[in-house]
Amino acid sequence: MEHYKYVILGAGPSGLSFAHTLRLLGEESFLVLDKENEAGGLCRSVEVDGKPLDIGGGHFLDLKRQEVLDLVFRFMPREEWQEHKRVSKIRIRGVELDHPLEGNLWQLPVADQIDFLESIAKAGVLRGEPQPEAFADWITWKLGDCIAREYMLPYNRKIWSMDPNQLGTYWLYKLPDVSFRETLQSCLEHKMFGALPAHASFLYPKAHGYGEVWRRMGDALGDKLHLGEALTSVDPATRTVNGRYQAGTIVNSIPWTAWTQTSPMPDEVRAAIGRLVQVPIDVDYVADTLPSDSHWTYDPDENKSFHRLLLRANFCSGSRGYWTETNSARSPKLAPGAFRHTNEYAYPVNTLDKPQTVDVIKKWAASQGIYPLGRWGQWEHMNSDVATSLAIAAAQELHGNPV
Ligand SMILES: Cc1cc2nc3c(=O)[nH]c(=O)nc-3n(C[C@H](O)[C@H](O)[C@H](O)COP(=O)(O)OP(=O)(O)OC[C@H]3O[C@@H](n4cnc5c(N)ncnc54)[C@H](O)[C@@H]3O)c2cc1C
Repeated sequence: MEHYKYVILGAGPSGLSFAHTLRLLGEESFLVLDKENEAGGLCRSVEVDGKPLDIGGGHFLDLKRQEVLDLVFRFMPREEWQEHKRVSKIRIRGVELDHPLEGNLWQLPVADQIDFLESIAKAGVLRGEPQPEAFADWITWKLGDCIAREYMLPYNRKIWSMDPNQLGTYWLYKLPDVSFRETLQSCLEHKMFGALPAHASFLYPKAHGYGEVWRRMGDALGDKLHLGEALTSVDPATRTVNGRYQAGTIVNSIPWTAWTQTSPMPDEVRAAIGRLVQVPIDVDYVADTLPSDSHWTYDPDENKSFHRLLLRANFCSGSRGYWTETNSARSPKLAPGAFRHTNEYAYPVNTLDKPQTVDVIKKWAASQGIYPLGRWGQWEHMNSDVATSLAIAAAQELHGNPV
């Protein structure tokens, strides 16, 4: 039996950032396990057609969090990153306009602007109607029938491959919030008004894919990182993992669904894990270079399988082509020789009852000395900078107050 203060499950950004923060605090009694043969999780990259491709979808580093930049620059210094000002587009009515739609309607022909302005003007929110609790109803309440029908509902049906009313509204603070007044002003003054969405400025490596920095963080852990080792068993009573690693605290950043086959747990917790929903995403490469300056483009047309295009040539220097993101349930048959990577766990889904469901799991975890971390530990749709920031804070907190 090997004894560690921390056994960390998962070597994505969360597990890696947690481990390196422990190390910076002088704590070396930890081990990280990951089922894949390379660190980085959803943020990994591979080479396709001579240049990097991010296999978990398009990945860009937001500049907002200094503690995150301080950590990642230790492994990939600032000079190795290129800063970009976000250009993201929406395809609608045969044209591409900037995201978010409500702030950029002025880019459409006048007749189309009127349709969409009328949609917002008649929306429930402006008529003082109460905010609905289900997502599809919220979309119509917030943006009106026309924008719901032509953009938000089809786009969300594509990405989630389920009725958007199965999702709640408690997470919608993450969506752009442009007021009707700002929309009107942008149409009159022909420029965007309202808060800019996430990634207004972002970093992407100059000579690598996004995965490179996480790969280096994995390498730097040496024999404290066991790659190719999946979770096979957990005994929560003794906090023993895979029959041979005994932990003071188990830090879990892998999907809870991996626990139901490997760990005893109360029926209530098992049932809660069974209610968690995730969406798988396929990433497909296409060698054509599109005539657009967009970094990424949203496409709500339900006749097309993918929902988002990543125009690699616009952020990865010297490259050509683009890749698409498609809910695996909608993916077309793969052409012979074409590149596809399937991410079985891509998006944790914000189902109506998710907050209560996750609470049940977290309460049990806390009672067993198990710390839930990251996208899958929290079952929260967070970007890698948020995952990293939370992991740094968690390591600092736990190191000061071990469970
Ligand atoms: C399509 C898409 C686009 C995104 N775009 C961005 C973006 O532009 N910018 C950004 O910052 N973030 C983006 N993200 C979010 C980013 O991918 C996550 O925030 C980040 O990967 C979370 O890190 P994590 O370590 O919590 O989870 P993960 O990266 O998912 O890591 C979990 C790790 O657990 C391992 N694991 C799973 N099961 C087991 C098991 N049974 N045993 C052992 N190991 C296991 C996995 O192999 C993986 O390495 C995007 C995500 C998606 C899906």
